[in-house]
Amino acid sequence: MRQDQEDPYQRRSAPVYAAADRAGSAGSRRAGSPRPVLYDAVLLDRDGTLIEDVPYNGDPEKVRPVPGARAALDRLRAAGLRLAVVTNQSGLARGYFTGTQMRAVHARVEELLGRFDAWLVCPHDDADGCDCRKPAPGLVHAAARELGTTPSRCVLVGDIGRDVAAALAAGAAGVLVPTPVTRPEEIAAAGWVATDLPAAVDEILRRQQAVQPATRPGGPVRTALVVRSDSAGDVLVTGPAIRAVAAGAQRVVLLCGPRGRAAADLLPGVDEIIEHPLPWIDPMPGPVDPAALRSLTARLGAVGADQAVVFTSFHQSALPLALLLRMAGIGRIAAISDDYPGSLLDIRHRVPVGVPEPERALSLAAAAGHRLPDGDEPVLRLRRDAVPPRPADLGDPGYVVLHPGSAASSRACPPEVATRIAGALTAAGHRVLVTGGPDERAVTARVAAAGGTDLGGRTDLAGLAGIMADASAIVVGNTGPAHLAAAAGVPVVSLFAPTVPFGQWGPYRVPTVRLGDAAAPCRDTRATDCPVPGHPCLRGIHPDEVVDALRTLTVSGGGRR
Ligand SMILES: [Zn+2]
Repeated sequence: MRQDQEDPYQRRSAPVYAAADRAGSAGSRRAGSPRPVLYDAVLLDRDGTLIEDVPYNGDPEKVRPVPGARAALDRLRAAGLRLAVVTNQSGLARGYFTGTQMRAVHARVEELLGRFDAWLVCPHDDADGCDCRKPAPGLVHAAARELGTTPSRCVLVGDIGRDVAAALAAGAAGVLVPTPVTRPEEIAAAGWVATDLPAAVDEILRRQQAVQPATRPGGPVRTALVVRSDSAGDVLVTGPAIRAVAAGAQRVVLLCGPRGRAAADLLPGVDEIIEHPLPWIDPMPGPVDPAALRSLTARLGAVGADQAVVFTSFHQSALPLALLLRMAGIGRIAAISDDYPGSLLDIRHRVPVGVPEPERALSLAAAAGHRLPDGDEPVLRLRRDAVPPRPADLGDPGYVVLHPGSAASSRACPPEVATRIAGALTAAGHRVLVTGGPDERAVTARVAAAGGTDLGGRTDLAGLAGIMADASAIVVGNTGPAHLAAAAGVPVVSLFAPTVPFGQWGPYRVPTVRLGDAAAPCRDTRATDCPVPGHPCLRGIHPDEVVDALRTLTVSGGGRR
């Protein structure tokens, strides 16, 4: 947990818990130009990504760039991004080529592809157990340091699962560009896949541009109404976008649903909260109550908003609320809508599939004329004044939080798997705290009996955040507390059921190791209860994988900064 940060919003704000370092900047950026919101640097794997893979090549004559590489890299350079190569070269350890030969190869690569700002090479092989050989995150940390930025402001492009895993373990983004050697399970597990290097570069630049407003908000914004209905995780991932709106408005009023209220109370940048269920969003809606909606409309009108920004997930519609907002007299309304909005929206924004939810929301804020200020990183954050300190009886910081449950059973860790994980972590010397809601006490008690302290039912969301803030890592499924961990800046071992895309819903910009079968038959079903007998996507997780993941996340300052 970083506790040394100032909040960019002096007025509203409470110090914040934040996931990423705001130090560092791209050296190639012109003085005075705004810092890019997302990335300072692109890290590239060498063999199979930049150049054709010639195993253990020590011969410059055999260097062949992949198609379109030079032009793609030049587009990144022109956009002010710094470039580094991060490459495993175990041929050095094995004596297949010398350092001199390798440097000749790299000189030839630069002759063909242009200059790179840094070269980071792991000379070891698997037997050395080093911190730099991908999938360990050491090279990513080293590259970020050398480029004067942080891992979360880097995106790594590679052709195999090890590349993506190294990126995520450092808190960077990872793009997989498959080749014939890429295994299907590596493609399934990757949250971001591109067909080739030029396509990867185009999407990096598109995402970078999408969170940068092209226009002003269309007049001063005294009061902005932002909307995020649905549950705690949804509200937390919208936090960066709400801060972006807050940076451009004098006052921000948030409309949320009852299931997201506890998370809304933790968000920096929010001045006032209106809580009301929306029957077209709630997964277990009551009947539509005309009187309640009339009263909501009147209340929204009383906000006196100059602008409304309606945030939704891709399967939700912003249009019913847009109609109420129109009836409430709100003049400027922005939302993402694939459906034709008629005159309900002033800004109809559209986003390709696969974009991380926080960036999807940031791109809507940008379309509405708002961006995160230079001093604020696009990470999830919590108001520190809303997070209570952890109870004193939990002992020193540095424990591991194991959170087996989920509001959706399809995304919960099977209790017997969580039980084995608790036992293995304890045996490996970790102090384990098992957390869960009041309705998960039976599971947390059972899991903690195998090793750990049972905190089931002892915490509300804010209390859970306070406990997570002092953890060395969180072991959790795809559920609200995973985003709470990301907001607390704590590394996540993600037991991720693939019912929704990892690239959209994985822990954002925080060191992460993904476990579980990404190609399981529940993939992309959006099921809340597992449709496959035996819940195979998470049942196959071996406890040793979790122990190894924790080791990976603590590499080279990977977790705690
Ligand atoms: Zn190494």
